[in-house]
Amino acid sequence: MTAGEWLARAAARLAAAGDLDAAVDAEWLLCEATGWSRSSLRLRRSDALDEAARTKIDAWLARRAAGEPLQYVLGSADFMGLRFRCDPRALIPRPDTETLCERALKALEGRRKPRALDLCCGTGAIGLSVARYRPDARVLLTDVSGEALSLARENALALGVQNASFAQGDLFAAAGDERFDLIACNPPYLDAADMASLQSEVRREPALALFGGPDGLDFYRRIAREAKDHLTAGGALLLEVGRGQADAVRAMLGWAACAVYEDLNGIERVVEVRAI
Ligand code: GLN
Repeated sequence: MTAGEWLARAAARLAAAGDLDAAVDAEWLLCEATGWSRSSLRLRRSDALDEAARTKIDAWLARRAAGEPLQYVLGSADFMGLRFRCDPRALIPRPDTETLCERALKALEGRRKPRALDLCCGTGAIGLSVARYRPDARVLLTDVSGEALSLARENALALGVQNASFAQGDLFAAAGDERFDLIACNPPYLDAADMASLQSEVRREPALALFGGPDGLDFYRRIAREAKDHLTAGGALLLEVGRGQADAVRAMLGWAACAVYEDLNGIERVVEVRAI
C-alpha cells in the first residue's frame, strides 16, 4: 500500500469515528511512524509503506479512531520547540500555554540566575521550557500528582535539563518558604459545566488537572492569597486562565498592577502581576 492510499483510508476512518481533524491526524500518524517530515509528505504519496511501518501505524490508527487524543497515541507533544513525552499521567501541553511560557521568559529577562517555580507542572512543559531556555535559572516544578511528577522527571531527563528540581505537594505546600523571581502556573480551571460537557478526547486526560471547582476559580483564590509570600521584590506571577476568567482573576489579584495577554486565538489567556 502506498502512503497516499493509507492516508486516504485513515482519514476516512477517523472522520467516520468523529475526528474533526481527520486528515491532519492521519498525516501526523504517518509522519511519526515513518520519520518523514510533514513537508516531504506531498512528494512521498506514491512511496510504498513497509511492513513495520504499517503494523505500527495501523495500531496507532485504531487507538486514535477509538477516541484517544493524538498526543497520547504518539506519546509526545511539541511545546516551545521542544518535544515532551505525553501520556495519561498528565494534561497534554496546549499551544495556548506557549503564551504563558513566552511571557515567563520575558519576565526573567535582565535577571541573572533567577529562581523560578512552576506550580501544577503536569508534564513539566512550562518549567522545563524555562529551564532549557534559561540555563542560568534554577527551576522548581511541583505538582500534587506523583504520576505527573514522574512524567515531568522523565521529560527533564529526555530533554537533558539539569537545572530543574521537583517536589510533590498541593500548590505552595511543596515550595517551602523560598521566594521566587517567577511563579508560573496553569492550574485546573474548568468549571462544573465545562466538566459535564468535555470533548471526548479531553475526558481521557486526568480530571485532577482540569477541574477548578464549581466556578473554576478555586485555585486562583488560593494562589492570590498565598503567592505574595513566595515572590521576590519585582518577582512576576503568571497565571493561565480559561476563557472569560481574566477579569475575575485580575480582581482577585488586586494587590499589584495587572497585565492580561491574549493567546493566538485572541482569547485573554494569561494574567501577570508583579510583586512590589
Ligand atoms: N485548556 C484546557 C482545556 O480547555 C484546560 C486546562 C486547565 O484546566 N488548566 O481543556
